[in-house]
Amino acid sequence: MTKKILAVGEIRDGEFRNVSYEAVAAAKEIASGGEVVGVLLGENVSGLAQELIQYGADRAVVVESEKLSSYTPDGYTQALQAVVEQENPDGMIFGHTSIGRDAAPKLAARLDSGLVSDATAIEVAGEEVIFTRPIYSGKAFEKKVVSGGKIFATIRPNNIAPLEKDESRSGDVSEVTVDIKDIRTIIKDVVRNTATGVDLSEANIIVAGGRGLKSGDNFKLLDELADVLGAAVGASRGACDAEYCDYALQIGQTGKVVTPDLYIAVGISGAIQHVAGMSNSKVIVAINKDPEAEIFNIADYGIVGDLFDIVPKLTEEFKNVVV
Ligand code: FAD
Repeated sequence: MTKKILAVGEIRDGEFRNVSYEAVAAAKEIASGGEVVGVLLGENVSGLAQELIQYGADRAVVVESEKLSSYTPDGYTQALQAVVEQENPDGMIFGHTSIGRDAAPKLAARLDSGLVSDATAIEVAGEEVIFTRPIYSGKAFEKKVVSGGKIFATIRPNNIAPLEKDESRSGDVSEVTVDIKDIRTIIKDVVRNTATGVDLSEANIIVAGGRGLKSGDNFKLLDELADVLGAAVGASRGACDAEYCDYALQIGQTGKVVTPDLYIAVGISGAIQHVAGMSNSKVIVAINKDPEAEIFNIADYGIVGDLFDIVPKLTEEFKNVVV
């Protein structure tokens, strides 16, 4: 049976985060030929709605409000609930981002539905929607079968391929008016903690540093390499604990979970808690002076040596090959 599925878009700095398009692709798969409706919340965001349609949504619904200019749990829940009440969909897909992780369970609970979180793949078999999701810190995958009821899910960025953008597509964009009230969180300032401006959770390439870097100043070596590669900079908790960098960069069990095409681990030992956050990267390169370091057990390519020699050389070499 075909379904009507909502895909929630996320905007940052006036542009969609990639996971928005991935949510549309996931919604399309689940809809099985039914309708996909892009959902957009924010202030002065209506102009972007067609883009969700160009990536595969059939139409879009927008909630415009100055109270939605930044994420707040109260504001978003009220707006999303109003959209669900108006659209009465069979399901709703969010990115597994800070916003999706906060808003999706709240909304699902309010609507008395279950939630599949952090899905990395989706299949449809008749009436069943089968979600694959990591468990035990990424060491195993389980399949969650949802049949009947509303389907709420968050999808892990960089796992479900977006559909190709088709600029000839257009569709209806309608507005839902919501009287948003009683927002208990006041956002005073938003401080960004990335050196290169590339978002860690959606980056295709990540250069991550560990305690082997020995100081915060030495993280500049990683910034330079990341700059040449168009990569994001991440870190182990060891590096964060040593105050070499901010905790916003931490990758691992208690940090961010990332799945880039290329992960370069520099001076990171490969503790199980770190590996939990990056082991699903497509290609892993490790640079470590200890040939016995655990990180080499999961690396596709290993360089044994002093990172202070190797990283500047790599940066110089990549300058010649990266256009
Ligand atoms: P170290 O283990 O000290 O490794 C440094 C590495 O650098 C060594 O392998 C060394 O050989 C290499 N090195 C040193 N000098 C050089 C050089 N000049 N050139 C090349 N290599 C060099 N950790 C995380 O990362 N993320 C998490 O989310 C996380 N969550 C945790 C949750 C819990 C409950 C606990 C208990 C721990 C958690 N940890 C996490 C911490 C984790 O166990 C490790 O302590 C941490 O990952 C180690 O960081 P590191 O690899 O940078 O440091």
